[in-house]
Formats: sequence, structure tokens, C-alpha cells
Amino acid sequence: MKGKMASCLQSFGTRSTKTKRAFLSVLEAAQGPLSAPEIQAAVEAARLHPNKTTVYRFLDAAVKAGELSVVDFGDGVKRYEHTHGAHHHHAVCTSCRAVTEVTIEPQLEKVMSEVTRQSGFSIERHLVEFFGRCKACV
Ligand SMILES: [Zn+2]
Ligand SMILES: [Zn+2]
Ligand SMILES: [Zn+2]
Repeated sequence: MKGKMASCLQSFGTRSTKTKRAFLSVLEAAQGPLSAPEIQAAVEAARLHPNKTTVYRFLDAAVKAGELSVVDFGDGVKRYEHTHGAHHHHAVCTSCRAVTEVTIEPQLEKVMSEVTRQSGFSIERHLVEFFGRCKACV
């Protein structure tokens, strides 16, 4: 009885590790942030069939672990991207949806200290994304 239970747990563990690896590799290879349905479709293309609950559970855990970050483009769709250990921001084309990564942290430091000065807030995180037309769409 004991032995049977252990082997069940073990096989579940192996399967979820495999699924987790598939999720992360999809996000690692992505050109830009992906929504949960896009992530699910990409993982299914790798012949894995996680249900919606598994997808959301994985995404939440990976965000908490700092492996993924949530990106908000203000269109009501939550997107996720691999952090690659580097925090950055995005310029999003509203015409073709192209996403360009931008690094503006030194400049943002000044903005954040101004926010702190005006509000007295101790800032824990920020989301800053830019919207307009890319070079190809101007
Ligand atoms: Zn464009
Ligand atoms: Zn990004
Ligand atoms: Zn930033």
C-alpha cells in the first residue's frame, strides 16, 4: 500500500516536471509576452495537454518564483514572459502588435523618486509600457 502510493506520487511528479519544462521552454523561445491561451496552445503543440487549471497554477507559481513576470498592455489580457533575470519594459505597436523591449531603468529611477516625493509611497513594483506605431506601421 505504502509502496503503491509512493510510485503514484513519483509518476505525478515526473509528469508535472515535464509539463513545467515545456511551459518554460515555450516562454523562453517566445518573441514577446504571451497570454495564457497562447501558452496553452504552444504547449499543446508539444503534444502535452494540460487543462486550464494546470496552466494557471503553473503561471502563478512561476510568477511567485520569479521565473516569469506579468505584463499588462492595458487591453484586459494578462500576459506572461520569461524574466531571463532582466527587468525591462515594452513598446507595443497598436497596429501590428509588434513588441519591442526597452531598458529605461536609470531614467525611471528619477521618476520613481519623484513619485515617492509626491506621495510618500515606498514603491514595491511598477508596470510601464508604451503604445504607438512601430517603424513599419508609421
Ligand atoms: Zn507595427
Ligand atoms: Zn519583455
Ligand atoms: Zn522598470
